[in-house]
Amino acid sequence: MGVKVCKFGGSSVADLIQLKKTKEIIGSDPERRYIVVSAPGRRFEEDIKITDVLYLCHSHREHKLPYDQLLQVIFDRYMATAANLGLRLDLASEYDVIREKMREGCSADYIASRGEYLNALIIAAYLGYDFVDAAGLVLFNSKGRLMEEETNEAISAELAKHERAVIPGFYGTYAENGEVKTFSRGGSDITGSIVARAIGADVYENWTDVSGFLMADPRIVKDPKPIQKISYKELRELSYMGASVLHEDAIYPARVANIPINIKNTNAPEDPGTVITAEHEEGPDDSIITGIAGKKGFTVIAIYKNMMSSERGFVRRILGILDDFNCNFEHIPCGVDTVSVVVSTSDIDGRLDEILDAFEKRLEPDEMEVFEDMALIATVGCGMNRRKGVSAKLFGALADAEVNMRMIEQGSSEINIIVGVEGKDFGTAVRAIYDAFA
Ligand code: ASP
Repeated sequence: MGVKVCKFGGSSVADLIQLKKTKEIIGSDPERRYIVVSAPGRRFEEDIKITDVLYLCHSHREHKLPYDQLLQVIFDRYMATAANLGLRLDLASEYDVIREKMREGCSADYIASRGEYLNALIIAAYLGYDFVDAAGLVLFNSKGRLMEEETNEAISAELAKHERAVIPGFYGTYAENGEVKTFSRGGSDITGSIVARAIGADVYENWTDVSGFLMADPRIVKDPKPIQKISYKELRELSYMGASVLHEDAIYPARVANIPINIKNTNAPEDPGTVITAEHEEGPDDSIITGIAGKKGFTVIAIYKNMMSSERGFVRRILGILDDFNCNFEHIPCGVDTVSVVVSTSDIDGRLDEILDAFEKRLEPDEMEVFEDMALIATVGCGMNRRKGVSAKLFGALADAEVNMRMIEQGSSEINIIVGVEGKDFGTAVRAIYDAFA
């Protein structure tokens, strides 16, 4: 029998209805043996996620504001869930422990992690699976970095003792002192991927509330087509540009073990979802592009200087200046005597004049031009690098839509063409590209 690791996100475990769906999904396939869960998410639009309330409790305590009632609300929610599922669990003593830890001044990581911990206890009992705590298995070093090999060994040794288990996502512990440490927000995705790697799963199913990735943002393009298959590489490019369904760091553990990740929808389990695999698989209906993603909020600084190309270290100096201002550069397209740097406007943080001053003094350019409020759009697809005329089609579509391009860049892997457009043209540009290729 094969083995699947399934991670259920906050919306899949938010209330009784969702928990029943989750149980049915797990019960319908005996290979679904290791389950990673998030804390309960929103039950309705205006609701608040348990993790957010837990952080709120912590910040109330830090500001010496009352937090008892907030903590009580959280507990009531867990108690009601357990009671409604007919489970006999001693949650009251868990509550006492947590309340005591809060009084003693526990860390924000500890209190936030209790959302997943309590939920995993309840779900394990509901499914009749073993509960396996992530504490002591998911290990971090003193700098807060995941200790990959140690974690891998610890999880695989522990899970070898359990035929079926539920593991809380989102946290682990420091190896040196056993204190709780969480991943960044949305980190249960990472736990799922780590568990999948540790047990050598056939597939890592990531259950959420959408049927995988769409070719474009549905807020911009009407009914975009779903992406059925995508390679890790393509996904990385899209996620970097803002397409978010899966935590970025969740890709690596599955990728090193060559485990496909299948994004599935708890509310529509029959939908195939998106399968993320190591390599791009060519098929008869292979499309040229896989997806389009973009972000607003960039500033482009174009620098012109005659004979720049023969001035050694010019680009290095630009990067040095940006580094002095703690700014990351996103792209740096070059011409013979021009260089443009694309920087996130939030990194510039109101210091544009100072940065330009530094450029002026240390680079002595002939001219500089600044384009504020720019957007970047990435058109991604492994199918591109075997076909001619893809960029001509893309640029033609933008020209027909009367969108002015300020920057063009294609990575050497030829799976990505990035264009910079004015912020006001962002939606028009994405729609024009989608219509040209989808
Ligand atoms: N509960 C955590 C969060 O809301 C982690 C997760 O759901 O993956 O970020």
